Amino acid sequence: MSSATHYDRRIAVQPPQIEATHSGWYLTSGPELPIVPLRGDVECDCLVIGGGWMGLHAARRFAEIQPDASVILVDAGRIGNNAAGRCMGFAIDLAHNPRKHDFVEDIQGNLDELSANLDGNAYLRSAVEELGVECDWDPQGKYHSAATHHGVADLLSFSKALDRMGQQYRWVEREEIQAITGSKHYIAALHHPGTILIQPAKYLKNATRLLPRNVTVHENTPITGVRYGSPRHTFEAATGTIRAKKVIICAAGYLTKFGFYPNTAIPVYTFASMTRQLTDAELASVGDRPAYGLIPADSFGTTVRRTVDNRLFLRNVYSYANNFKMTLPEVMDARQNQLVAFDRRWPELSKIGFEASWGGLLTLSQNGGMVFGQLAENVYGAAFCNGTGVSRGTAFGKAVAELAAGRSSPVIEILKRKIPPRRAYPKLITSLGVRFVTGRRFKKAGAEV
Ligand SMILES: Cc1cc2nc3c(=O)[nH]c(=O)nc-3n(C[C@H](O)[C@H](O)[C@H](O)COP(=O)(O)OP(=O)(O)OC[C@H]3O[C@@H](n4cnc5c(N)ncnc54)[C@H](O)[C@@H]3O)c2cc1C
Repeated sequence: MSSATHYDRRIAVQPPQIEATHSGWYLTSGPELPIVPLRGDVECDCLVIGGGWMGLHAARRFAEIQPDASVILVDAGRIGNNAAGRCMGFAIDLAHNPRKHDFVEDIQGNLDELSANLDGNAYLRSAVEELGVECDWDPQGKYHSAATHHGVADLLSFSKALDRMGQQYRWVEREEIQAITGSKHYIAALHHPGTILIQPAKYLKNATRLLPRNVTVHENTPITGVRYGSPRHTFEAATGTIRAKKVIICAAGYLTKFGFYPNTAIPVYTFASMTRQLTDAELASVGDRPAYGLIPADSFGTTVRRTVDNRLFLRNVYSYANNFKMTLPEVMDARQNQLVAFDRRWPELSKIGFEASWGGLLTLSQNGGMVFGQLAENVYGAAFCNGTGVSRGTAFGKAVAELAAGRSSPVIEILKRKIPPRRAYPKLITSLGVRFVTGRRFKKAGAEV
């Protein structure tokens, strides 16, 4: 926990920039919801900053546990059009991380990760089943797909880790994966159940609308300054101030702008593109399933979703985000790589191009550490997804709210054991390092892209 040095001085907070483009998920998530503007000075028992997977679920959980407490959730932009809503919508119980050298050996680490993610997925499920959150929920699992022999080798190493954890999975032969996808590009796959496919922007928009009644949501409300204090902290926004007894900061890499873990966040963007709705004739060439999700065997390859509203989504490219932001030309550069991937998989279809392209922030740290827990008196935080954040972010958000409300749980104990993020190397070195490594890994991934 940080010392009281944060108290009684104003910290200027750098808020996120508006993204260069809207995400395809947001554009197809239904009508814009009305906004409740922040006006003047307001007070609350608990303020949650950030409406991503972590913050939305922190707000929901805190409000459920303390139904008499007033909770405010603020976000700098529209919830659903943030990084959380820009993701590929895989709620992953166990992420395959072949970059981690000890992935296969780290059985306890993987089991801990699995327990936390399952808790996250159960909380997502309860929003769908108990609250009625509409999000195209589809618990069909994911296909780890290989297009090359080195991709097949990656799948083999993943299968060893699954064996050691007693996890169920199924090998999918060339004919079957080609029939599922309609693409001759794939040569093998491994099906792992447990992952849930969702429309992320729909989930976030609809879940925000169905938060408990003691939560007030202010979108388009960037926090620009803070003065931590007792009995209340004071947060500044352009249209008012919020005085809160407790705060839970779930602002991803921007948590570092609130005075905690400075210079630890490594801002990396990844990008995606979405086609228009395919015609009946076009659908015949994208396989015999109405929807699927493919994770590339090589993590620098291309992730693919076919959605129930008959579109293809493709994600690839990682890029260092100078000052946490991406420009339109950078989004368009990445789109070219998604076009190449589209053409490799469905050459007869790729001329239709894309209807939308976008990028979104992933917050990484030098040592893979994450923020979880109490940061100072009446200040709590959860942040740094390190690549995957739907299930994990939901679990972190739920657990940090329970901690802030004075509860304990097995997941809290697991998350407390996570290593915190370490200070990154100086910015120039980090940016050059990320550019070098991502460029090399992207090239090496070859036809997995
Ligand atoms: C293209 C893409 C595909 C991905 N695919 C997947 C996937 O399939 N599965 C998966 O698990 N993960 C995926 N991810 C990663 C996932 O999106 C992130 O891990 C996740 O969004 C992190 O959630 P979060 O709540 O920590 O942060 P965020 O979603 O980044 O939310 C943080 C929020 O804080 C707000 N905020 C920051 N500063 C302030 C401020 N000063 N004032 C007010 N609000 C502020 C921001 O506006 C933002 O809404 C993907 C990411 C991208 C970009």
